Amino acid sequence: MIRRLALLLTLVITATLTATPRTTDSAEIQLALKKLTVVGSALQIAAHPDDENTALNAWLANDRLYRTAYLSVTRGDGGQNLLGDEKGELLGVIRTQELLAARRIDGGEQFFTRAIDFGFTKSPVETLNIWGHDASLADVVWIIRKFQPDVIVARFPTTGEGGHGQHTASAILAGEAFVAAGDPTKFPEQLKYVRVWQPKRLFWNRFGANFQAIKPDDPLVANDVRIDLGAFNPLLGHSYGEIAADSRSQHKSQGFGVAQRRGTLINYFHLIAGDPASGDLFSGIDTSWSRYPGGDTVGKYLQQASNEFDPKDPAKSIPTLLLAWTALDRVSASDAWLPNVNPWAAVKKEELLDVIRACAGLAIDVSASDSSVVPGGEIPVSVSVINRSDYPFILSTVANPLANPSKAPGAKLANNVPVKTDVTIKLPPDSAYSQPYWLVTPPTKGLYTVSDQRLVGLPENPAPIPITVTLTDPTMHTLIFTVPAIYRWTDAVRGEQTRRVDVVPEVTANLETNARLFPDTKPRTMSVSLHDFVGATTANVRLVVPNGWSATPASAPVTFAKKGDDAKVTFTITPPAAASNGVVRAEVELPDGKKISQSLTNIDYPHIPAQRVFGESSAKLVREDVKKRGSRVGYIMGAGDDVPDALRQIGYDVDLLTDADLEQGDFAKYDAIVTGVRAYNARPAMKAAHPKLMKYVENGGTLVVQYNSLSPQPLLIESPGPYPFKVANERVTVEEAPVRFVDPAHPLLNTPNKITQPDFEGWVQERGLYFTNNWDPKYSTPLATNDPGEPEHAGGELYAHYGKGVFIYTSYAWFRQLPAGVPGAYKLFANMVSAQ
Ligand SMILES: [Zn+2]
Repeated sequence: MIRRLALLLTLVITATLTATPRTTDSAEIQLALKKLTVVGSALQIAAHPDDENTALNAWLANDRLYRTAYLSVTRGDGGQNLLGDEKGELLGVIRTQELLAARRIDGGEQFFTRAIDFGFTKSPVETLNIWGHDASLADVVWIIRKFQPDVIVARFPTTGEGGHGQHTASAILAGEAFVAAGDPTKFPEQLKYVRVWQPKRLFWNRFGANFQAIKPDDPLVANDVRIDLGAFNPLLGHSYGEIAADSRSQHKSQGFGVAQRRGTLINYFHLIAGDPASGDLFSGIDTSWSRYPGGDTVGKYLQQASNEFDPKDPAKSIPTLLLAWTALDRVSASDAWLPNVNPWAAVKKEELLDVIRACAGLAIDVSASDSSVVPGGEIPVSVSVINRSDYPFILSTVANPLANPSKAPGAKLANNVPVKTDVTIKLPPDSAYSQPYWLVTPPTKGLYTVSDQRLVGLPENPAPIPITVTLTDPTMHTLIFTVPAIYRWTDAVRGEQTRRVDVVPEVTANLETNARLFPDTKPRTMSVSLHDFVGATTANVRLVVPNGWSATPASAPVTFAKKGDDAKVTFTITPPAAASNGVVRAEVELPDGKKISQSLTNIDYPHIPAQRVFGESSAKLVREDVKKRGSRVGYIMGAGDDVPDALRQIGYDVDLLTDADLEQGDFAKYDAIVTGVRAYNARPAMKAAHPKLMKYVENGGTLVVQYNSLSPQPLLIESPGPYPFKVANERVTVEEAPVRFVDPAHPLLNTPNKITQPDFEGWVQERGLYFTNNWDPKYSTPLATNDPGEPEHAGGELYAHYGKGVFIYTSYAWFRQLPAGVPGAYKLFANMVSAQ
């Protein structure tokens, strides 16, 4: 768990943030020109990253050319991670970026509410209680009022067929927000920034029972709107089904790679609220420029540009597009087009700028000298503008609204001749760190805290260093491009790489673990890894420990020769004799007396832009007597977890077993072998290793198998134990759910640690997942638990003697409890590893 410091967030929010150019070749320009003539929009609403219908997005955005967005109520923070060990809010950061990657492919925009994905639940009532019904509804209403969709499509029904309680809750919110967004008495505080908006229709994008396809003659869909989402777009060279698969395959942390599908793809849309629809989602809705006063002229020029487009000479379109630009500029000054009344002027200006840029072959590179800068620091930025057309653009000014006086190159942009301008950006000393805005302030249980209403809904922070590049022409047009400064470098294999520039702390400090167990009264070490972002400097590092604990040395000096240097300091912490827990914090003091306590997590995967996430430099300290038997443990990592670290803290020597170790099968040297989460899903070598592991148990070994799932990766072995059992999709999602000791005399509850009810207190997120059922009677089940109102599940932990050894299958969520420093979890886990 990362803790966050409240930081002042001062962000510049500009209307035209042109990050990556969207349009490049003539076919794309042709499509973008057509899109400019359309003034209609649609919003999909569901609960999670991956819930959205990417084919619907692709079709709405590229066939109908509507402004299209997906509102994912949560960022998917509560799921499992198939790529690495990021959990919780870090996983939410990954999924946010995966959704943005998906939208870059299907052409949609992305929004979120502040609601947190707190894990699986069956109940929409529990969901809305945890999120806060009014707060989550306010956010959906806010996004509808800002985005102003003509049509809303809910992915799930309110009646529960979506399974997950958060799915059903997203549909309930969509229905309530459909009504509330147009009601000025609802959330009136929002009306300072936006106006009320009444969408025309709300549909449910129907799916069949158990998510199966619907037959066209099914009487259920007789009155539904039918749309073929499988059409082919010759300008893109793909069908929407193909685009949808590429988009969906960005959900890599969930392992949702899918094959491209071709051919007809009929979808059914059931009207939930609003005007009756005759045969089409948008029937009777004016999506032309005429729908707003003064729009006709703009629409006329845009239509002309579209009609007259010459793919061999796109620059010929520029004069007509500039006429449209001037007309749009003129109408956007009138009341009906003010940004808080009507988003279209800003949206279409951005689209139009992008098309003009593409028609001129304009490239605007804004390259910072580094990917990081500290508050009060300076960063050189090189701006290179090249015009690949004969249109007589002039590079008028290069400016940064934060600090620098603008530069006025006043240079003619001759065809294919780059013009470079160098600026140095000096950040104000009180600049906020580039922490994802929803992680700046601690959340409530179900909701992120966002103090600036204008940030609510945004997928990510606005860029910290936007550069505005102003072009003019001899006919007095002014085009202002706002481009974020990015850092570029060349990778010998992958070629040119980019990442955004972050405002970072001068020195970050990461403790070696999130939770440190003291199973006895002996002192133990805690090291602090430091990273310097400021340049040559010295610093003093100390640990701030709770009362009754002590750390030595009291402080330690470190010297950094240059930016990017790392250092490590090791402290010794002495615990109190009695059970106790608290928080240790690392503090870095700079020569000027500034004290910083910020950790840094780098998230770096090839399919998403690299992310830096900060947190408080702190860890949980747990003084709890934990006894163990045996000393050497072999750990077979599955999908990825932090359990080996916890085992080491309990006092075990832990070897991470490689595939070669598994093949060799030399397990006898271990007192116990533990498999990581989903090892029987994610680790192909487990299939061949399984008989050897059973042999190891038969000969007297102890094998602890942590939970495995049924999807998205299937089980490699149906029943990964010596006697049969079934892994089922059964969870106990309430972390406080009572746990009954089925057999209080069971060894797992008594040796070497006596387990009592308080050992099940302070758990996080859930009790367990993918509990088993239909187990062989040779297994005993020491524990049983259930969610409120559900039958008891005893299949969370199976125990059996096999030959001379012991086999244990455990579906309890140890991978969450141990890294969170839950005292009882150490004792319960030690008992399993110690079983004999
Ligand atoms: Zn979902």
